[in-house]
Amino acid sequence: MHAKIVALPGDGIGPEVVVEAERVLQLVAGKFGHTFAIERFPMGGCAIDSHGDPLPEHTLAACKQADAVLLGAVGGPKWDDPKAKTRPEVGLLKIRKELGLFANLRPIKTYQPLLDSSPLKREIVEGVDILFFRELTGGLYFGESGRRPHPSGEQAYSTMIYSTEEIARIVRLSCQAAMKRRKKLTMVDKANVLEVSRLWRQVSQEIVSKEFPELTYDVVLVDSMAMHLLSRPRDFDVVVTENMFGDILTDEGSMLTGSLGMLPSASLGTPGPGLYEPIHGSAPDIAGKGIANPLATILAGAMLLRHSLNLEEEARCIEAAVDRILIEGFRTKDIARGGASLSTNQMGDKVIEVIKG
Ligand code: NAD
Repeated sequence: MHAKIVALPGDGIGPEVVVEAERVLQLVAGKFGHTFAIERFPMGGCAIDSHGDPLPEHTLAACKQADAVLLGAVGGPKWDDPKAKTRPEVGLLKIRKELGLFANLRPIKTYQPLLDSSPLKREIVEGVDILFFRELTGGLYFGESGRRPHPSGEQAYSTMIYSTEEIARIVRLSCQAAMKRRKKLTMVDKANVLEVSRLWRQVSQEIVSKEFPELTYDVVLVDSMAMHLLSRPRDFDVVVTENMFGDILTDEGSMLTGSLGMLPSASLGTPGPGLYEPIHGSAPDIAGKGIANPLATILAGAMLLRHSLNLEEEARCIEAAVDRILIEGFRTKDIARGGASLSTNQMGDKVIEVIKG
C-alpha cells in the first residue's frame, strides 16, 4: 500500500514525540512492504508565528488530501494572551470541523507493568481495555445557546440537540469496532430524563438489532457509568455516548491508567482522513528537555494504521512492541516512579529495536 500521511508536530513536546512516531511508522511500512509519504505542515502556535494563522490554508488543504493526519500537540504560554487575535486551539477546532470528525475514539487500556501508576487499586484496574466512542460535533456544545433577561437578572440556556443521522453514524462505527473486539457494546445516556437520550436509545437499539445482532448490547445511565468506571471497569469493552457525557467519562477513564503519556486518541469522520494524536497537551514544562514520553503518539500511529489504513496486523505489531518494552522495564521519566529513565529518543529506539526483531 502507498499512503499519504500529514504530520502536524505543533508546539512544545509535539515535535519531539511526533518524530518518534514517524520513525516507527516508516519502519513498519518497510517491514510489511508499504510506502508511507509523511509530510510535515505547520499548525498551532508555531503556525501563528510563521503564517499568522494557527491552521494555514496550505496545511488544511494537505490534510484534506491525505489518507490520515498525525498531530502532536498545540499551545503554550507564548500564545496564551487572551487579547491575542487568534489562538492555537482555534486551529484544533477548525481542523475537526473542516474534516467532519464526528467520532472521537479513546482507548483506555492499562498495562500490567504500570498498574501501580493508577490512583486506583491494582485489582480494579488490572486487565482494563475499553474503547470509548464519543460523539464530537453535536449535542450541548454545538446546540443553540444564549442569554435573555430574567426578573432575577438573566437566564442562560444551552440546547442539547441530535438528529437520527448524527446518532446512527457513530453508533454504526462503534458497532463495527465492537465486532472486531469482544463483541460487546455499551451505550451511555440519560434516557430517564432527556428526550435526546431517548432518541439515542431508539436509534442504537434499532441499528444493533437489525445490523449487528451478534453483539451483546446494553445501555447504562451516565451517572451509573461514572460509578461503574471506578468500581468494575473491566466489564466494559466498546462504549458509545454523546458529546458531553463522553467528554467527562473519557477524562475519568484516563485516570484508570494514571499515565497521560501513554494514551492515544483518534478522531474519525468517514469518508475522509482521520486525525490521530496523543491525549496530552504540549507540556511546556518539559518541552525541549528530551524527556517526554513518546508512547502515546506512537500508539496514535498504531490507531492510524488500524482505522484509516485498515492495517490491523501492522497496528498490532506496534502495540505489541510497546507492551514488550514496558514488560522489559524501559521507562520515560513520567512513568519511572523515581527509577532509571530513558530519553524520548531512546524510548523510540527501544520500540524500533523490538519491531526490527
Ligand atoms: P499537558 O498534557 O500538556 O501537561 C500536563 C502534565 O503532564 C505536565 O506536567 C506535562 O509535563 C505532563 N505530560 C504531558 N504529556 C507528557 C508526555 N508525553 N510525557 C511526559 N509528561 C507529559 O496539559 P497542560 O499543561 O494543561 O497544557 C499545556 C498546553 O497544552 C496548553 O497550552 C494547552 O492548551 C495545550 N493542550 C493541547 C492539547 C492538544 O493539542 N490536543 C490538549 C491538551 C492541552
